[in-house]
Amino acid sequence: MRISDYPFTEDAAGAVREAGYSLESLLTRASFKAVRSRAMRRVAGALQGAIPESCPQSQAEHLSELLSYPLARVMVSCLGDEILLRRYALAEAKLAFRRMQEEKDGLKALAEDLGLHPQGPGPYKIHFSEYIRAAHGMKSPKWKLTNRDLSQGYLTVTEEETKRLMEEAARVRVLKGLPLPVDERICASLEEYLQPLREQLEALKARERVDLGAVEEGAFPPCIKKMLSDVARGVNLAHSARFALVSFLLHINMTADEVISIFNTSPDFDSERTRYQVEHIAGSSGTRYKPPACSTMATYGNCPGQDELCRRISHPLSYYQRRLDTSTPLPAQ
Ligand code: SF4
Repeated sequence: MRISDYPFTEDAAGAVREAGYSLESLLTRASFKAVRSRAMRRVAGALQGAIPESCPQSQAEHLSELLSYPLARVMVSCLGDEILLRRYALAEAKLAFRRMQEEKDGLKALAEDLGLHPQGPGPYKIHFSEYIRAAHGMKSPKWKLTNRDLSQGYLTVTEEETKRLMEEAARVRVLKGLPLPVDERICASLEEYLQPLREQLEALKARERVDLGAVEEGAFPPCIKKMLSDVARGVNLAHSARFALVSFLLHINMTADEVISIFNTSPDFDSERTRYQVEHIAGSSGTRYKPPACSTMATYGNCPGQDELCRRISHPLSYYQRRLDTSTPLPAQ
């Protein structure tokens, strides 16, 4: 296992410490320009959906690859955008996953560094406590403990599934501690790298901004606004909140496709599963579900607090309707 391939591991962090270079030297020395450029490519790649491979050959290139990771963490911290942080962690984990496909003897050592101790030649046995820790962020039903074969405290997982669990553990590891508390002077000295990244980030956000069409987003009640903002930040909604959001949007005449596209920002977006859920709520099984009333929303912790209008209505749809009524100017007499 080459540690520069997995720069988020304990071993890699130890090697960076041992190399003994200060952050100052990474920022200023001409000989580290390749490190700064590779750090920028890591972040730019994350914004585009994938960090490109680097294929280091010499020892110096391996060191450059290794050092570019902590510097990329500094860059994303300077940019300080939550969507970027999540995308960056996901892209680092996906890069590691691609590299795992070529990995032979080092796979178990990498798994152990990430807190997993798979036993056997494969399919592996993994202790359920390690499994739960690694799989708790994965939403597909196949990862649920109840859908796995459990015997004497161990689950059986294929090699491919083990790599997926390692990818998820790597994502959590990369995200941990971000954003770093970075001094403003350090960010200023990285400005030539940060400015193009900032522009790329803004362009990405503009592209992904949800187009709610004819819907009056400004008239949404606080609960729905909060859920939309959580989804845009890549936060996974609880089942009850997801149901409330989808049923509300369908009731105000958004199409199933428009609603599905809103969820296309989460790291483990599963389009087929989302389509099934949205179409089910829309009435594909014969029942068209109505969004829950405010009292139910409050019971499930989905009412973020009431504004003035909230105190006078009992249903999020009434809120929306009242806001529409009061925002439409009366025709001239
Ligand atoms: S009172 Fe009703 S409409 Fe207002 S935020 Fe709570 S659930 Fe939404």
